[in-house]
Amino acid sequence: MKRIIFLGPPGAGKGTQAKIISELYSIPHISTGDILRAAVQDQTSLGQKAQNFMDSGELVPDELILDLIKERLQETDALDGWILDGFPRNVSQAEFLDKLLTELSLTADYVINLEVPDEVLVERLLERKRKDDNESTIRRRLEIYHQDTVPVISYYTDSGLLKAVNGNLEMKEVTSSLQTVVNQ
Ligand code: AMP
Repeated sequence: MKRIIFLGPPGAGKGTQAKIISELYSIPHISTGDILRAAVQDQTSLGQKAQNFMDSGELVPDELILDLIKERLQETDALDGWILDGFPRNVSQAEFLDKLLTELSLTADYVINLEVPDEVLVERLLERKRKDDNESTIRRRLEIYHQDTVPVISYYTDSGLLKAVNGNLEMKEVTSSLQTVVNQ
């Protein structure tokens, strides 16, 4: 079974790699950022509530995300595995996910941290040209990452599940290191 929690800073290439892994192992790629962007695009009530947070590089409040993840993980396509990209983003989301998986009698099989140095991230994010990518939101997203998401890495290190993968390599090399981890 492949249930993968995929961590890493903004701009590390998580989205691209998660999509590849999802295709290679036939598991859904569950990206909270993609779900939120679609909601903003469709101007749903979730999208309207999330938009300002996203545009300024802040995390959207947990209450907008937790039920969404709970429902998504119980959809039929997610019963036999998934790769989670962009969730959990803080320790309270990680604790929520732990409880949820316990309730569903599931465990994560892999927690992977894609490592890329900050200076490379800024460069990559500036090249990406997504709507929420300008210098000040990029700086803010990195700050939030260090403040809220880095503690999630320690949370999983303590549980002994975490594996680090170097994301500062050619795309194909990163994919092959990820496959090595996921094939274990
Ligand atoms: P991403 O595509 O993962 O970089 O996410 C884009 C934006 O969506 C982030 O900057 C946050 O504003 C929001 N977002 C995505 N996932 C989460 C999450 N798990 N918790 C809170 N906000 C999130």
